[in-house]
Amino acid sequence: METENSNRNILDARRSSIVVKDGCNGPGGGISCDSNSVSGSVSQRACVYCGARVVLNPITDAWHIVHGPIGCSSYTWDIRGSLTSGEDIYRNSFSTDLQETDIIFGGIRKLEAAVDELMEKEDNVKLIFIYATCIVGVIGDDVEALCKMKSEQYHIPVIPVKSPGFSGNKSTGYRMACDAIMNVLLPHKSEEKRTAINILGDFNLAGEMWIIKNYFREIGIDVISGFTGDTCYEDMIEAPKAALNIVQCAGSSTYLANRMEEEFGIPFIKVSFFGIEDTTNSLIRTAEALGNELARKKAVEFCRKKGEELENFLSRYRKNLEGKKAAIYVGGGFKAISLIRQFQAMGMETVVVGTQTGKKEDYEMIESLVKSDTIILDDANPAELETFMKEKGADILVGGVKERPLAYKLGIAFCDHNHERKFPLAGFEGVVNFTMEINKSINSPVWGYIS
Ligand code: SF4
Repeated sequence: METENSNRNILDARRSSIVVKDGCNGPGGGISCDSNSVSGSVSQRACVYCGARVVLNPITDAWHIVHGPIGCSSYTWDIRGSLTSGEDIYRNSFSTDLQETDIIFGGIRKLEAAVDELMEKEDNVKLIFIYATCIVGVIGDDVEALCKMKSEQYHIPVIPVKSPGFSGNKSTGYRMACDAIMNVLLPHKSEEKRTAINILGDFNLAGEMWIIKNYFREIGIDVISGFTGDTCYEDMIEAPKAALNIVQCAGSSTYLANRMEEEFGIPFIKVSFFGIEDTTNSLIRTAEALGNELARKKAVEFCRKKGEELENFLSRYRKNLEGKKAAIYVGGGFKAISLIRQFQAMGMETVVVGTQTGKKEDYEMIESLVKSDTIILDDANPAELETFMKEKGADILVGGVKERPLAYKLGIAFCDHNHERKFPLAGFEGVVNFTMEINKSINSPVWGYIS
C-alpha cells in the first residue's frame, strides 16, 4: 500500500514535466524543466560529477584526480570516446580511493599525497583537475584550500571541481566544469583580439571537432580553441583572444559562453552541426557574426554543393524510411531540435521527444516542430520512456547507452547519439552515417523474429 502511494506521488510530481502537444495540459512552453529530478523517480540523468566530467575530460593533457571512492572514477575516456590528435593523458583516471577510515578521519592528506606523487612521478604536468565527489561533500574536506596550496607549490593550475553528485543535477556539473575552465583562463585575459573563433560544447566524439574545424578551414575562418574536444592547455589559454564563440552543445556550454562574454568581451552565437539545414545555417551565421563577407560567400557555395550531393543520397534512403516513427531522448535541447529536423528530412515523424537538460526555450522550439499528440518530456525515467514508446508505436529510439536496453527490451530499433558513438554524426559526413545507421537498425530483419 505504501509503495502504491509513493508511486502515485512520483507520478503527480512528474505531471508538469510531460506534455502532449496541443493536449489539454496546454502549450509545451509551460513544461516544467531545468530543475532537480524528483526523488525516487530514478531518472535517466547522470550526477553532478558526471556532468562536470563530460565537459572537462576531453582536455587531452589534463590530469584528472577523482577525490572519492573508486567507483566514481569509473567514468573515464573509455566510456566516452573523445578523440585526440596529441596527448592522451586524459584517458587515465586517478582516484584517492577513499575508504572508511578516510571518511571518519578526513581524506585531505590522501589527496595531498596523490598530488605530490603525481608531481614526483610525471614530467611536464601542466594542469590538474580535482573532483570533489559525494562523500567529500559530506565529510567536508577543504579541496579548494589544498588546490590553492598545490598551485602555489608547483606553479601550475590545480583546479577544484566542486561536484558532489547530490549537489544538484547534471546541469550543475556542467556549470562547475565551466567555472573550472574559467579558473584556467582568467589569468590569461588579453586585450589582443584575433578575427577567429572558439568552438564551445563539442567534445570531439568520433572526431566530430575535426570535421567542423575542416569546414571552417574550407571557408577561411580560423579556430583558436575547442572546448573541450581535442584541446590542450596551451590552446585553451589562447581562447580569450577570440572575436567570437560559437556554442554547439548549448546545455553544457552556454554558461561558459556567458562567462567568457562577461570576462573577455567575446560575444557568442548558438549553433548546431547536426543535419544539413543546421550545419548550413551555422556556417553562414558564424561568417556573418564575424562580419567576414568572403567567408559567408564561401560558406554558401560550400554548403550548396554538399546539400546537393546529400539530396541525391537521401532520396535513395527515403523510400525505406518514409512514414516510420522516431522517439528521441538525448542530453540537450539543441540536439533534440536538430534530430527532429533530420527525421523530417528523411520523411520520418517524431512521436516522443525528451531531454535531460533542455531549457524552456528549447521546449518551445521543439513544440513548434512536432505534430499534434507528440509526447514531450523532460528528465524522463525508464518507465515513462517505455510507456510512451509503446503507446505511440515508435520504430526507433535515438538516445545514449542508458536508453539502449529500454529499446531492445521492447523490440524497437536503437541509434546511439551519445558519447559512446563510434561514427561521427555531426556535419555533412554525419548525415550520411546517421541515415545509414537509422536505415540499418530500423530495417534489420531481427525485429521480425522478435514480434
Ligand atoms: S552520485 Fe556521487 S558517488 Fe555516485 S558517481 Fe556521482 S559523485 Fe560518485
